Amino acid sequence: MLRKLVFATNNKNKIKEVSAIVGHKFEIVCLDEIGCHDDIAETGTTLEENALIKARYINQKYGVDCFSDDTGLEVDALGGQPGVHSARYAGEDKNSEANIDKLLLNLEGKDNRNARFRTVVALIINGEEHVFEGKVEGRIIESRHGNGGFGYDPVFVPEGKDKTFAELSAEEKNSISHRGRAVKKLSDYLNGL
Ligand code: IMP
Repeated sequence: MLRKLVFATNNKNKIKEVSAIVGHKFEIVCLDEIGCHDDIAETGTTLEENALIKARYINQKYGVDCFSDDTGLEVDALGGQPGVHSARYAGEDKNSEANIDKLLLNLEGKDNRNARFRTVVALIINGEEHVFEGKVEGRIIESRHGNGGFGYDPVFVPEGKDKTFAELSAEEKNSISHRGRAVKKLSDYLNGL
């Protein structure tokens, strides 16, 4: 029988992405499947803190091995904002269109458009905590391009490409993305256990 590992999310795309890489060794289980419907307060001031808050909560409450992820868009000209506030940048309703509008407005007239997506994965397994990071450098362009992806994808052009994340195929994006890179580090660790 496969060993169970809880991923502190209910996002089916994320579960699928990780299962595809470590599914031969672990059964990746989402929060719904362990009966967790709690709204875990992400009160940290960094991605690392928030990822650890979620993983520790699940590990302590349910006594299971687990991991969580937290992602932010860090824009240099905005002092690293929206960062941990990426989902709620323009308000509590987590509206991607409004978030992009606010970002473009705040960058109006700024020459430095450098930014990065950063994902932190916190894993608690065999009573030990491990943190993995993945990032992708790029820049914020002045208007939206492409229909794929989600969140800030239509305005983020990764380094070395001339297309936004929203114009790349899911495969192309995953192969260079912040989350893809963090998940690769997680899977290398898990596969080595
Ligand atoms: P989460 O930690 O994965 O929930 O990500 C927080 C927020 O960052 C999301 O609500 C999005 O606004 C943004 N975000 C995360 N990953 C991506 C991505 O791959 N592309 C664009 N935006 C993203």
